[in-house]
Amino acid sequence: MATIEYSNLINGEWRAADHTQPNINPSDINDVIGYASQSEVSDVAAAVASAQSAARKWSRSGIQQRHDILKTTGDVLLARAPELGAMLAREEGKTRPEGIGEVRRAAQIFHFYAGECLRSGGELVPSVRPGINVAVTREAVGVVGLITPWNFPIAIPAWKIAPALAWGNTVVFKPAELVPASATMLVSILHDAGLPHGVLNMVLGSGAIVGQAMLDSDQIDAYSFTGSLNTGRRVAAAAVESLSRVQLEMGGKNALVILDDCDLTLAVECAVNGAYFSTGQRCTASSRLIVTEGIHDQFVEALAARLDTLNVGHALDEGVDIGPTVSEAQMEQDLAYIRIGVEEGAVLHRGGRPVQARSPGYYVAPALFTQTSNAMRINQEEIFGPVASVIRVRNYEEALAVSNDSAFGLTAGICTSSLKYASDFKREAEAGMVMVNLPTAGVDYHVPFGGRKASNLGPREQGSHARDFYTVVKTAYEQA
Ligand code: ADP
Repeated sequence: MATIEYSNLINGEWRAADHTQPNINPSDINDVIGYASQSEVSDVAAAVASAQSAARKWSRSGIQQRHDILKTTGDVLLARAPELGAMLAREEGKTRPEGIGEVRRAAQIFHFYAGECLRSGGELVPSVRPGINVAVTREAVGVVGLITPWNFPIAIPAWKIAPALAWGNTVVFKPAELVPASATMLVSILHDAGLPHGVLNMVLGSGAIVGQAMLDSDQIDAYSFTGSLNTGRRVAAAAVESLSRVQLEMGGKNALVILDDCDLTLAVECAVNGAYFSTGQRCTASSRLIVTEGIHDQFVEALAARLDTLNVGHALDEGVDIGPTVSEAQMEQDLAYIRIGVEEGAVLHRGGRPVQARSPGYYVAPALFTQTSNAMRINQEEIFGPVASVIRVRNYEEALAVSNDSAFGLTAGICTSSLKYASDFKREAEAGMVMVNLPTAGVDYHVPFGGRKASNLGPREQGSHARDFYTVVKTAYEQA
């Protein structure tokens, strides 16, 4: 079989770097999917130069052209969702239905921003001085640098690339090292849809070299980053240094509050979905389950029974609920946190151990800790795996206080049949997104996405709100 190589896209040409790294299937480490270019600082410089030289023309391109390219991209993603979703699942480890769902979501995002191209307008307002008109319009920012993580390897790049292009920016895109195949599939579809050369450039390789070279560049006008808190801090510092715009989405330590008056079956499903689906590798995962004492024992029993029914296995197999963790390093991190939890005195009620499947991979049984306190490291630090803790509280007031007692503030959820508590929680939760009787993960694409506190810096992503980051406002005065 021919070796598959993933290359950079620079100025409309696919260019391989001198060195490559194997792309390993986390469900079966004997399956080498391909080899990805490991780029150098000079490749980043070429990509940035290419994006710069294409910027002026693209920012003045017609909205019909931009619409058509984004619409075609969405159409192709939809038509090829089963094939692309399977490759995503093979590379990242989420289950095949989750992979296909993610590709369909990316298609919806491209269709949404295709529409946004046609909806961009400004305001014409009278001046306070007679005889003068004021026009408030929006223009492209210029070259945007997009740095993305591996956990949604098609959807996150889609929700950054689509609005960047829709509003006339050119792009240098650096996907995460672990997912070159997904990134390449998306970028090739955009390229084939007719993007002019240089408008979208992709550079594959490590964060330390490629990512850092992007941060060191003084030719990038805006950075949008999704990833860890530590890297986010570096991106923010670099953006301040070069006076570039910055948008960061980082971790979460999201709480799902479960009150005595909840629908227990619904609460268990919200917890299972939010904490364990996609192997818990979502920044919106419910890693803290805050349960009032009247329902605590019943909830733990029902959740543990439900966990026993979950099937952990190869991401592409029929009937698998939870795929592997993404890499050996991630599995080690999850297992290290499980040891820390036990050392801190939490009770490991279910799972938390490596699991054998039909092929050698990075499988971990979904872990449930009970008898935990919010101060424990397992409840303060993001683990990013199939691990959740139950925190027992006396009442709603304590649940709310514990929910908010976190450095992060991405999502927060509550399961209750009380309008009073649901309304209060929507108001008081220190989170960018609040869910009532829904899992903390799983959002719409036409409304803002983003967190508070250490989860976020800068304006919101997704929906029409993305315009605030990807455009710059101009105020023009004219005397007739
Ligand atoms: P995770 O722990 O989810 O991998 P990271 O923040 O390490 O989160 O990675 C998110 C993205 O940031 C990846 O594309 C990664 O390559 C990139 N990255 C990592 N280190 C740096 C860095 N020093 N400069 C710029 N980008 C980086």
